[in-house]
Amino acid sequence: MRPTVTEFPFIESWRACVPEVDQQWISKALFTYSSNGHPELDERKLDGFWYDPPMSQTIPNQKPRLDRYFGHRLFLWLPLRLCRMALTCPFCKVTHLTKQGLYRLTRIVLDIDSFYILATESLHCVKCKKNQIGWSEAILDQLDPATRSTFPVQMMYHSACDTRVIYLLRQRGLALLSYRSRSLSFTI
Ligand SMILES: [Zn+2]
Repeated sequence: MRPTVTEFPFIESWRACVPEVDQQWISKALFTYSSNGHPELDERKLDGFWYDPPMSQTIPNQKPRLDRYFGHRLFLWLPLRLCRMALTCPFCKVTHLTKQGLYRLTRIVLDIDSFYILATESLHCVKCKKNQIGWSEAILDQLDPATRSTFPVQMMYHSACDTRVIYLLRQRGLALLSYRSRSLSFTI
C-alpha cells in the first residue's frame, strides 16, 4: 500500500530510538520510498559521516519552530559503503561481508556539550549467514588506524560516549590523582 502524503519515509524500528524531533529531517536527509512503497536508504543522498539538523530561523510575524532548537546531529557509520574496504566475517574468516541495510537500532551518544545520534549498517556473511553490526569491535578492529580514528564513539554495554568525553574524564582523573598525591605529600 502506498504511504499517505502526511507520512515520511523512515525505518519503522528507528521511530522508538530516534528522538521524535529528529525523525523528519533525518528522513529528508537519508531516505526515500522504494518502488514498492517501503522506506529505504537513498545512497545518492549519502554525504560523509555527519548530518546536521536544520538551523533555527527567525521569520518576522511567525512563531519560531521549537523543534529547531532541540535537534541532534547524526553520525552515520557505514564502514562498508564509505570506507570502501573489504571486511572479513569474524566467524568463518574467509568471506567478505556484504551490506545488509541499516541496523534496526540507533544509539544516543554523550558528547562534551550535547548528545548525538549514532546509526550504522548491518553486515552479512553469505557463508555462515551471520550478521555483524557496523560498530562492533570485530569490524572496527579490521580498519586501518586512520579510518578507525574517524569513528568517534566509545561503545559500552548500555551507553555510548564520544572519545573526547573519555579523554576529558581521563585528564580529570589524572589531575585528581596528581592533586591527591600532592596533598598527601604535604601532610606527611
Ligand atoms: Zn561467516
